[in-house]
Amino acid sequence: MPFATLGLVPELVRAVVEEGYAHPTPVQLEAIPLALEGRDLIGSAQTGTGKTAAFMLPILQRLAPGKKHTLRALILVPTRELAEQVLQSARTYGRHLHLTAAAVYGGVGMEPQTRALRHGVDIVVATPGRLLDHMERGHVDFSKLEILVLDEADRMLDMGFAPDVRRILSALPDKRQTMLFSATISREVDALARKAMSGHASVEIGRRAQTAEGIEHVIVAVDKVQKRGVLAKILRAKPEGQTLVFTRTKYGADKLVTYLKREGIAAHAIHGDKAQSHRQRTLDAFRSGVADTLVATDIAARGIDVDGIRMVVNYDVPNDPEAYVHRVGRTARAGARGLALTLISPDEWLMMAEVEKLIGRTFPREVIPGFEPSVPPLQPRAAAPEVPKPARSVRMRVGRGRRR
Ligand code: AMP
Repeated sequence: MPFATLGLVPELVRAVVEEGYAHPTPVQLEAIPLALEGRDLIGSAQTGTGKTAAFMLPILQRLAPGKKHTLRALILVPTRELAEQVLQSARTYGRHLHLTAAAVYGGVGMEPQTRALRHGVDIVVATPGRLLDHMERGHVDFSKLEILVLDEADRMLDMGFAPDVRRILSALPDKRQTMLFSATISREVDALARKAMSGHASVEIGRRAQTAEGIEHVIVAVDKVQKRGVLAKILRAKPEGQTLVFTRTKYGADKLVTYLKREGIAAHAIHGDKAQSHRQRTLDAFRSGVADTLVATDIAARGIDVDGIRMVVNYDVPNDPEAYVHRVGRTARAGARGLALTLISPDEWLMMAEVEKLIGRTFPREVIPGFEPSVPPLQPRAAAPEVPKPARSVRMRVGRGRRR
């Protein structure tokens, strides 16, 4: 589908064609028509997906007919480099329109930025700290602001900008369009989005895999040899309702059931090596509630459609990230609540990162007291290991509902 069909004005179509863009990227296809309608958006999109054009083109289109040299669009970004890049995009895509843009970030003199702000620009791209400096000095007038973009929101939060962003939000007019883009939509990003959009109906785009709303996902960091002990502890403390435990192999499922029985926990295995009649009996017992805990392999679990499953435990992280979505989909069926616990040993973090990438969210990492792993949990931003966050200690909170 060519750009011309997205509803963009000819000046913008011309600019992107001159840039050599033949077709919109998936995030542009989804975001541009919605943004042109003035909708609030939450976009799960990483750098390199074309997200800058996805928000910049609609901004330019909206601002083009209005009163010029008035601050009407603000784009908050985490770094100076990104501020410069986004500023360049505004200039490139807007080259056939008569709009002005300026970047505001720290580490350089304030004076040129102050002049630009005082003189009046249509679009400001800013890092939060320096923008606040200007706000405190009375250099910024937000009274005509129509659009706010929070770009790379996850990085902004990782860099500790949450209080600054909140202060900026409280200085903006309520009636505005807000778009938030983030590589991952963690609970923190989600909370920021809800604050920034204050109850407006927002549209989520860019999610490739969806899991049910009612599922709380938690990662438990543990050493491999301690996994079965952790599982036993979790099962002993678990609430009413059935639990489905996933292992990667049939052998692993059998071994785990033997261990749990030895620990006095009733559990049954279900996998492809069991006779069909045996599988059926086990499933019937599970469905009726006679059997409480089922240990299954992925293939055997396909047909398990039991409403009472309150908890899914991934004893092993699945090899295929899509399998995670299928596994946790066994709980929180039909609008119910459910808990998805994944026990992660140090060798499984990369696979877990694939799952989080697919789902577009990062999950909280927890540690069970007495079962602390020898290697600290890998935090979502693996690229920045110099600022490790301590893992929270879990108080066997299993099944007490969502913490939102
Ligand atoms: P971004 O994800 O916004 O950082 O963009 C990544 C790169 O993709 C930039 O260099 C853009 O110039 C380029 N780009 C954005 N949209 C398109 C498109 N529709 N076709 C080809 N390249 C694009």
